Amino acid sequence: MKKIFTAVLLSAIAIPLFAVQAITPFDGTLIAIDAGHGGTETGAVNATYGVAEKNVNLAVVLALKAKLESAGAQVVLTREGDETISSRRERVGMAVDKCKALANRKCDVLLSVHHNGSSDTAHDGALVIYNEKQDIPLATALHDALVPLTGQDEGYLSGGYGITVYNHLISALTEAYYITNDTEAEAFLNGNRVQEEVDAQFAGLADYFTNKSSDSGKGGGGKGNGKGPNK
Ligand SMILES: [Zn+2]
Repeated sequence: MKKIFTAVLLSAIAIPLFAVQAITPFDGTLIAIDAGHGGTETGAVNATYGVAEKNVNLAVVLALKAKLESAGAQVVLTREGDETISSRRERVGMAVDKCKALANRKCDVLLSVHHNGSSDTAHDGALVIYNEKQDIPLATALHDALVPLTGQDEGYLSGGYGITVYNHLISALTEAYYITNDTEAEAFLNGNRVQEEVDAQFAGLADYFTNKSSDSGKGGGGKGNGKGPNK
């Protein structure tokens, strides 16, 4: 009787303990993240607030890395400070080398974080860039998670842009919003904009890995308006 009572008591305790150790979509994943630009290359600049895109990119990437790691991912970064990286090819090479050094295999995905630029300080919206058909599920998951940040959808660009073209990694480049938009730059400096984007990027990646592991995620179309140069 006492034994049965103890067993019941133990299982009542054990169930909540196991519940804490939930499996996340990031367990066992190896994610490379690139903070666009850096050093002498500022990227887009908000003239009103003096905010350079390179610093916004890095702030998002560092916070996203921490959040992903706490969810079980292994994360490598191209740049971790204000380094100048000479070429996009070199960025991809760094990601590949760091994945190899950390986990002795190919990165599962490469995400390049950028913010767009326009001469119109009121213009805003989200754009995702990818290169190959294999990138579409990732690009779609990130796009769908990022669009609500601005509520303005600038769709996709595909074919030969940015760092997505090298090494046949599954990759996407995000322009979550326009840093030249004054409201965005102000929210970056004084608001919660970095965390809002980190949460959205995290949700997009979680979606991608969840669908990938259940093998039910079919990517959407890669159509966008394709207008305007991305920064
Ligand atoms: Zn950029």
